[in-house]
Amino acid sequence: MAPEGYAVASAPEDADVILINTCTVREKSRVKVLSAIGRYAKLKASNPGLILGVAGCVAQQEGEELLRASDALDLVLGPDHIGDLPALVHEARRRRQVQVGHLDVEQYRFLGAATHGGEGRGPTALVTIQKGCDNHCSYCVVPQVRGPEVRRPLDDIVQEVKGLVDSGVVEVTLIGQNVNSYTGHRGASSDFVDLLRSVDAVDGLQRVRFTTSHPKDFTEGLARAFAELPTLCPWLHLPVQCGSSRVLERMNRGYTREHYLGLVQLVRRHCPEVTLGTDIIVGYPGESEEDFLETVSLLEQVQYDTVYSFKYSVRPETAAAELDDDVPEADKSRRLRTLQARQDEITSARLTRFQGETVTALVEGPSRRGLPQLSGRGPGNHVVNFEQPAGAPDLVGRLVPVTITRTGGHSLTGELAELVD
Ligand code: SAH
Ligand code: SF4
Repeated sequence: MAPEGYAVASAPEDADVILINTCTVREKSRVKVLSAIGRYAKLKASNPGLILGVAGCVAQQEGEELLRASDALDLVLGPDHIGDLPALVHEARRRRQVQVGHLDVEQYRFLGAATHGGEGRGPTALVTIQKGCDNHCSYCVVPQVRGPEVRRPLDDIVQEVKGLVDSGVVEVTLIGQNVNSYTGHRGASSDFVDLLRSVDAVDGLQRVRFTTSHPKDFTEGLARAFAELPTLCPWLHLPVQCGSSRVLERMNRGYTREHYLGLVQLVRRHCPEVTLGTDIIVGYPGESEEDFLETVSLLEQVQYDTVYSFKYSVRPETAAAELDDDVPEADKSRRLRTLQARQDEITSARLTRFQGETVTALVEGPSRRGLPQLSGRGPGNHVVNFEQPAGAPDLVGRLVPVTITRTGGHSLTGELAELVD
């Protein structure tokens, strides 16, 4: 929008365009969107020219329905059409607009991260390497709302990373629903490790991360890349979803508990300091108490640093929507609480390994507490807070050594290990 003369408004009351971006991977998304529309619609009383839109996967899923649900809505925009946003906003001033549906390999254009950060972008950037998903995990609505997998050409990705580095970015995260199924554009012979190698070779880039990778496509070569590529951070988010092979099979994930544990071992062999994260679903149809206890035992065995856990919710038109959602809500809630309490203990116990250690942090800006405390990220993606010494230069965007003096539930606190000039 910037080339059209738009800039970020400081408050909704000052905006000419309000776009609600949405996710529909779990339930209640529609209800949340409608209540957000209601909240912003009130602003039209004092600003009749305000364009109110819904973007993202709820827009994709609901389409015209959303316009029918709210008279105040001007624009419904699916994720594949984000590149048309300026033109659609323009048109919406005359007539309400709906633009949803999937674009295929020939038509799809990846939007450069370099073009949406604008001024004041931090030292990190997300670079999209693929869109959509070709997997069929039984519970998941992503393949329907994002469409089939489209891979971005390798050269295009590398060019974008170069541009970002030229504009001051030092860390990129390559993103996609299943990054390690990357094979290059339209049958090119490259794979995800080739892509990592090419990105690693970009002059001036300090750090690379990627998310999300899928256990079924995880290769020994990728595990080795952690040892071989200097910029690749020791951080891996590898969603397991469940610790019971019986449930994994019913989720159609394509691996067993044992295979997954083997991968963890493999990665740790090549990169002993790796920080591991995962996603868990509790209460999938037919999940017994025994299955759930296998998930808890998997967390204990793996010793993750971070776990994102969710109660199963039925998504329309998924394979699992045909099954009876038979785990009672009370059991789902209890399982989630039990799992999160156990993981909180594991997470804080894991963080103590950094006590007294010096961690290289990429400084991102003021901490949540505010200046003079700054916040950055260590190689393993841990939040590292430290005080900016009086008279120190601006450290944002720089890699600085921080000696850890305190470890908390989810973050590390320390002091600059040496004065930086
Ligand atoms: N592509 C990624 C994750 C995409 S969705 C992957 O395969 O790992 C992010 C997470 O949302 C999933 O890992 C899963 O844990 C959760 N999720 C997806 N569908 C869900 C559903 N129907 N109910 C609850 N959680 C769900
Ligand atoms: Fe959904 Fe599975 Fe694709 Fe992830 S890999 S987006 S969970 S279908």
